[in-house]
Amino acid sequence: MNMRLEKPTWFKRRLPTGPEYEKVRGLVDSFHLHTVCQEARCPNQWECFSDQTATFLIMGPACTRNCRFCAVQKSPVAPPDPEEPQRVAQAASTLGLSYVVITSVTRDDLDDGGASVFAETITEVKKICDGVRIEVLVPDFQGDMRALQQVIAAGPDVLNHNIETVPRLYETVRPQADYQRSLDIFRYLRGSSPKLPTKSGLMLGLGEKDDEIKATLVDLVTAGCKLLTLGQYLQPTKDHLPVERYVTPEEFDQWRSTALKIGFVEAVSGPLVRSSYHAGKLLGHCAK
Ligand code: SF4
Repeated sequence: MNMRLEKPTWFKRRLPTGPEYEKVRGLVDSFHLHTVCQEARCPNQWECFSDQTATFLIMGPACTRNCRFCAVQKSPVAPPDPEEPQRVAQAASTLGLSYVVITSVTRDDLDDGGASVFAETITEVKKICDGVRIEVLVPDFQGDMRALQQVIAAGPDVLNHNIETVPRLYETVRPQADYQRSLDIFRYLRGSSPKLPTKSGLMLGLGEKDDEIKATLVDLVTAGCKLLTLGQYLQPTKDHLPVERYVTPEEFDQWRSTALKIGFVEAVSGPLVRSSYHAGKLLGHCAK
């Protein structure tokens, strides 16, 4: 185990401030909503907001799982707020977003894992945001494909599900998840919705080996996944898993080339890359 590693220079990016940023932040707060952007103190916030993209976290703020890399608050969970779908739509409309990412904590306490809330949120956003594109970043619904189909039936433009890391590290990094169950989501969509752009993402720097990363990328493409994000794991607090290694920007560039050679339609790869980074641009490649 590494002592806390010094953050390399490429992470020295100032968090956004200024009146425009504060206006956006204030607006999101006024709708009593959670954005992953703010919750995760994402360094790309301003770039995404300027790209008219934001990521809303629904059914939070607490999660029923306990992934060791994630700063999201853990249980107890509250019943989903029936007005949240409308508030997400109103916020997206007020912010003038052209690309909305809807993600959630994992709600294993709900019969459908929260699929109906995803579906309702998609429907509400589409109702009042003309021409908006919607990406859903979904949990694994404990392998319930009827729940997943309920989300798909609402008509998102991209279905994202993060595989997060390599199978050997699942027990340590995301103990309540299952590698094959996550791949099954792409296998299911490959058959049921072959035209739907699908996407996944990995964090690097948790101790995975290069051949394990490559094998996971091959598994994703074989299962039907088309788009990929690769970013550096950052330790949210000292109570979370330590960073085993900072992957260099050059290595991330190399991984993007490798991912394209393996068969991804497009990939975004870099130390600061997160699941929704340049999401709209990534989708553009699928339409070609
Ligand atoms: S399931 Fe998602 S929100 Fe919950 S702890 Fe894991 S990564 Fe965080």
